[in-house]
Amino acid sequence: MSPFSPLSGGLREAWQHPGAAERLRRLRKAAVVTRERLIDDGPALSCSTHRLVTFPYPTRYAFSGGGLSPAPFVMMTNRMQIVQFEHGGRRKTLLFNPTDVEGGRAATFFSDLSAKFGQFVARRVIPTYYGTVEEHLVRAGLTPADVDYVAFDHLHVQELRRWLGEQPYFPRARLLVMQAEWDEVKDPHPMNAVWYVPNGCDIPEARVEVLDGDVLLGRGVALLDTRGHTRGNMSLAVVTADGPFVVSENGVAPESYAPLHSRIPGVRAYAEQMGFEVVLNGNTREDSLDQYSSMIVEKIVAGPTKRDPTFPAFAASSELTQSLLAPGLAPTFVFTPPDVGTHVPTA
Ligand SMILES: [Zn+2]
Repeated sequence: MSPFSPLSGGLREAWQHPGAAERLRRLRKAAVVTRERLIDDGPALSCSTHRLVTFPYPTRYAFSGGGLSPAPFVMMTNRMQIVQFEHGGRRKTLLFNPTDVEGGRAATFFSDLSAKFGQFVARRVIPTYYGTVEEHLVRAGLTPADVDYVAFDHLHVQELRRWLGEQPYFPRARLLVMQAEWDEVKDPHPMNAVWYVPNGCDIPEARVEVLDGDVLLGRGVALLDTRGHTRGNMSLAVVTADGPFVVSENGVAPESYAPLHSRIPGVRAYAEQMGFEVVLNGNTREDSLDQYSSMIVEKIVAGPTKRDPTFPAFAASSELTQSLLAPGLAPTFVFTPPDVGTHVPTA
């Protein structure tokens, strides 16, 4: 039994409707209520965002083929959130998307990339490193023992054994994961297998807290069921004084949620032609209808940014990043999630 309460607002019920179009209509309404309740509940205690690495990603996936560029790759930047919230009268620490960058290379997709470009280019020339999870934690004034929970929007390219395996770097932490994601990573379908690190999630079950849907982790911090990119995909929602912002990999930039305002060649035309409100990060197509609906939920829960209400407060966990290697593919709008509060050691 999960120690967290389900998120009220009706998203769970909406997801259960069997018809895809009606499901989306119900999700829209539930997302509005969910956003209001999250805001009413009040802000999180503290939150900070940390860049890990900038890496190449196929252009054809980033905007589902809508982005037009001769460059085969766009650059994306992986980011991690450190979040503290109150749960059961205690201050808790969550690391969201603490990617073990070295470990993630073992995913079949990225090892093929290394084979194509050579180890040196793939590891040392193309990527930019900003600091490891361990380094960011120290800079935030925390120790590994302060971490209560580790969670990822999904488990593609994740290597968990160093964090939560037999000799865990985080001695107390537990993995929060949706049931569907955990089932998939244990026995991936052939269409998904290329993205997972073989055996990367072989950690003791005692270290795993399986979730069966949206949860409120504590005041101002929630995990949303945003299935689609993977069947057990989830998004982090954090409330600050600026309102909520939402983190996931369903889109690669805020303009994925406002494609009619994108200046990237092809994205707007693609959305217009298809009549799409959002443009998927499309490296997995198995559950695209759900991914689309999940992105609508994210857009509504996040709401508009203060700087430009055209774009939602969406913080891509793998964020499209301007690069000379990918001309014409710079983001139209960059959202920097607010760093709020001060992290306090709790161990
Ligand atoms: Zn993925």
